[in-house]
Amino acid sequence: MSNERLQELRGQVDVINMQILELLSKRASIVTEIGKLHTSMGNEHYDPEREAHMLQALEQANKGPFSNETIKALFREIFRASLAMEEQQARAKIRVQRKSKDERTVITLPNGAEFGSGQFQVIAGPCAVESFEQVDEVAKALAARGVKLMRGMAYKPRTSPYEFQGLGEPGLQIARQVADKYGMAICSEIMDQSQIPMFLDYVDVLWVGARNMQNSFLLRALGKVNKPIILKRGAGATLEEFLYSAEYIVSSGNPNVMLIERGIRTFEKWTRNTLDIGGVTVLKLETHLPVIVDISHSAGRRDIANPLARVARASGADALMVEVHPNPPVAMSDAKQQLTIPEFNSMMDEVMQMA
Ligand code: PEP
Ligand code: MN
Repeated sequence: MSNERLQELRGQVDVINMQILELLSKRASIVTEIGKLHTSMGNEHYDPEREAHMLQALEQANKGPFSNETIKALFREIFRASLAMEEQQARAKIRVQRKSKDERTVITLPNGAEFGSGQFQVIAGPCAVESFEQVDEVAKALAARGVKLMRGMAYKPRTSPYEFQGLGEPGLQIARQVADKYGMAICSEIMDQSQIPMFLDYVDVLWVGARNMQNSFLLRALGKVNKPIILKRGAGATLEEFLYSAEYIVSSGNPNVMLIERGIRTFEKWTRNTLDIGGVTVLKLETHLPVIVDISHSAGRRDIANPLARVARASGADALMVEVHPNPPVAMSDAKQQLTIPEFNSMMDEVMQMA
């Protein structure tokens, strides 16, 4: 008898489970529609005030036997799942998100170098332009190893205002002159949108540093530029934030954006930043934009450049970026991480022999 009752009650619970499932699915399709409206109106998907009101109403309506805390915890979980679904759907629509397995953005520089086509590229050069002789010595070594894109940094975002800030426009002139001598293109970090016209006179690729990754005014302005952009990941930025920053540029009209992972801040001190190599592989899955690995600012030290370069290539990245200086100990910035020319050659030997 009690066995029959047990079967009957279990049967009722099974039916309720199916009803809950049906209601959850119905709820999810309504939420999807709400999400679409939010996106089309440019609204935030998460409305904390609405969620708080709803939880309060549920608490008032709760007749037990579940405690208010339990009911709120269950509904919070439902809200969270809906939000995650909405966000995923919103992300699937952004321009930088990969829509198919073989979608790729290929960026071709004036000298013919391709990024994103399957060729593995090396971007190299000093941390900062210091003099014509310094850049010339490095450039000669880079060109001899087939490097097609050189760093020509003339504005340096230093931690302290009392440190070397870069040569400014004369630095860009030096980089341009030397790059032309060796048939290389140059990239250079732009600090502010007011510099765009000047940068367009000298550089082939405009570079946004980690500190400016979320400067949406600058990003929008670069969306109007007719040259490729390299965008660095902020030290504290998630991959999603990184992609949304790229989206600012692309949605403003410039599809030629490359992403560069440069290490994120963690508790670890033996490297300057923690190279998020898992993040690089995720980026390759999530976006069709070329992805670059900065093995210099992530490590902050030159002694692990060779293994990091191999890791960068093995990760599926389209390029690596490394700093090279004729005499690193006397460099005016990032002295600890820049490679000497022989160290650069050794790194190239290793990385270029990889299949
Ligand atoms: C750089 O690459 O020149 C640089 C300043 O690095 P980050 O913006 O990653 O600090
Ligand atoms: Mn540097």
